[in-house]
Amino acid sequence: MNAPIIVWFRRDLRLSDHAALSAAQKSNRPVIPVFIRDCVVDDLGAAPKWRLGLGLNAFARSLDDIASKLILRSGDAQTVLATLMAETGATSVYWTRAYDPASTQRDTATKAFFRKAGVDVKSFGGHLMFEPWTVETKTGGFYRVYSPYWRAVKDRHVETPLAKVTSLLSPKEWPNCENLEDWRLGRAMQRGASVVLPFAQIGEDAAQYRLEQFIQTRADTYKADRDFPAIDATSRLSENLALGEISPHQCWHAGMRALLEGCAGAEHFLKEVVWREFAYHLMLHTPDILTRNWKPDWDKFPWNTDGTHSDVIAWKQGRTGIRFVDAAMREMYVTGRMHNRARMIVASYLTKHLMTHWTIGKDWFERCLIDWDPAANAMGWQWAAGSGPDAAPYFRVFNPVSQLEKFDPQSHYADRWIAEGKSAPHPDALRYFDAIPRSWQLSASAPYPAPIVTAAEGRARALAAYEGRQF
Ligand code: FAD
Repeated sequence: MNAPIIVWFRRDLRLSDHAALSAAQKSNRPVIPVFIRDCVVDDLGAAPKWRLGLGLNAFARSLDDIASKLILRSGDAQTVLATLMAETGATSVYWTRAYDPASTQRDTATKAFFRKAGVDVKSFGGHLMFEPWTVETKTGGFYRVYSPYWRAVKDRHVETPLAKVTSLLSPKEWPNCENLEDWRLGRAMQRGASVVLPFAQIGEDAAQYRLEQFIQTRADTYKADRDFPAIDATSRLSENLALGEISPHQCWHAGMRALLEGCAGAEHFLKEVVWREFAYHLMLHTPDILTRNWKPDWDKFPWNTDGTHSDVIAWKQGRTGIRFVDAAMREMYVTGRMHNRARMIVASYLTKHLMTHWTIGKDWFERCLIDWDPAANAMGWQWAAGSGPDAAPYFRVFNPVSQLEKFDPQSHYADRWIAEGKSAPHPDALRYFDAIPRSWQLSASAPYPAPIVTAAEGRARALAAYEGRQF
């Protein structure tokens, strides 16, 4: 019974509220924490891969602090785990469940393979509060609309977060560990890395601090302020949730405590955390949501599917001439994040005004966001395009000009991100030019472009294309 347990970390880079790690610790057996750079990792976009490298670095240090070690290996996960078991005599493998199709397929095959070989393989919850298959409609189906989903889960028991693991038994000898720098996870970020770095909040401690700060200083006004992109009103925990540097349970219980103490705005925060659960619920039940129109009628829509079209290039470069769209795309380049309202606006403009397929935007976000999350990203894009479950009605086309007037009345957000035409641009607006590839040949002193498609033209064009079609 002294054989080591391998805990295979993936999107769960934390020591607190970690069911798999806690179970391994309680066994009083040596624990070998492992991260495997397999094809799921190799397939990540530039920004999430870079951010993963930073997260791994922080997590390895946390393990060092408790006299343990993160073993890094690369290759096919099953082969790596089998090799590690042979090297260390480990007889058990524990992990936290993942839900995207590629991970699910890998994990199912890995579990079956090792169970057949007599290995003790256990998967644990932790990435979600509600396992997607446990939330069912009265007829036993899955939810397609958020509000009834929320009503179904809001009074459910959410597991109390587990205590932080503060010690782990080490194996007699640590197996070899690859060098994180050699993985070059930040290679594709190029110049962007040093620009984005100061905006990232990396690791479990930073996430816990941010949650505490948010609950104390922002939760009360969250509902009122969360739509104004110039205000630092939201938790900004998405990058930590994406890598499991914090658990949704920890967010839920902190929000619930605040609510019980009279902070009314906290309820809205809880609802947003549940939007993330809903996205996973949809992805598990309809994995095609990542790649295909959820409503097949949209297959007939005359989308532009050419990612090299000049409209798409202008959109990616934040040069559409529509200030809300351009500010948002630049915010993403500089910070690796984008405000939620801004995400809705750029997604609506690309899919409606520019009639471009949502997968082009979804794939671009997948490359550029440090908080990239497969489920939330796909759901957000299909929602904005109108092709998804519980989507905005297709005829409701956001006007990016009036939206800016409403949600950025003093132009603080637009001015923070757009340098052109300003005698003294905001430093963040200039940072954009340091982050983008030189090959784009953009300069802050160039004139700001006229709209490639105005709000009115785009709306009329999209509505004309919708006319007569039955969505
Ligand atoms: P807060 O407002 O503080 O909310 C707390 C948490 O709730 C978030 O961290 C997030 O985990 C969850 N949440 C909030 N809003 C949503 C939502 N609409 N859908 C799902 N979960 C939500 N979110 C991602 O985490 N990764 C993505 O790749 C992503 N892509 C998106 C793409 C589009 C087109 C759209 C419209 C939305 C996308 N979102 C994505 C959802 C949302 O924009 C972000 O979760 C939010 O902006 C993160 O900021 P925050 O952490 O300050 O959120």
